[in-house]
Amino acid sequence: MKLVFATHNDHKLKEVQQLLPKSIQLLSLKDIDCFDEIPETGTTLEENAKIKADFVTKTYGLNCFSDDTGLLVDALNGAPGVFSARYAGEQKNDKDNMVKLLSELKGANNRSAHFKTVVYLNLKEDSYTFDGIVEGHITHEEHGNGGFGYDPIFKPNGYDKTFGELPSTTKNTISHRGRAMAKLVEFLKNKEL
Ligand code: IMP
Repeated sequence: MKLVFATHNDHKLKEVQQLLPKSIQLLSLKDIDCFDEIPETGTTLEENAKIKADFVTKTYGLNCFSDDTGLLVDALNGAPGVFSARYAGEQKNDKDNMVKLLSELKGANNRSAHFKTVVYLNLKEDSYTFDGIVEGHITHEEHGNGGFGYDPIFKPNGYDKTFGELPSTTKNTISHRGRAMAKLVEFLKNKEL
């Protein structure tokens, strides 16, 4: 069966496709000729993931899943959360976002934070959600230049390196997105599609 992953990110698509049985063919938004900027107007990760998956299912009549991720910092009451991509402005710049976060946390003793990914799946007549979390803390400065987003300032618990320094294979195994996608893949495998 064909299943749309509501993303423009080919890297994410390939990664998930490799984990799925061959009977499931993943399609990106580009593959279905969807070039719309789907507005992420929700106030939670769940709402935004649902908006994206529902847009595709309603417009194209296809089974679809989407993911939405945020970094939630305890000392900032869960900010930047759903606004992680545009924390420092609509330019959605990773460097600007990290600079802003480090500045907001200046002098803070509690630097604990977690990444959370929510996956929302529309399959046939039903909908399902899966989430993945990785706990850690925000460092005082950037370390490493691997990954993207807030990776250089996020150190997962149990590791003495940031996501910007750890190999991508390690990050993918323990990350919020890796964990949420693993749950989705298990679910789809057991569905006998
Ligand atoms: P998205 O929902 O995957 O587009 O993620 C929203 C924002 O969260 C991104 O623009 C990044 O700023 C941040 N983010 C998501 N995943 C990661 C990650 O694995 N590492 C660092 N930052 C991330």
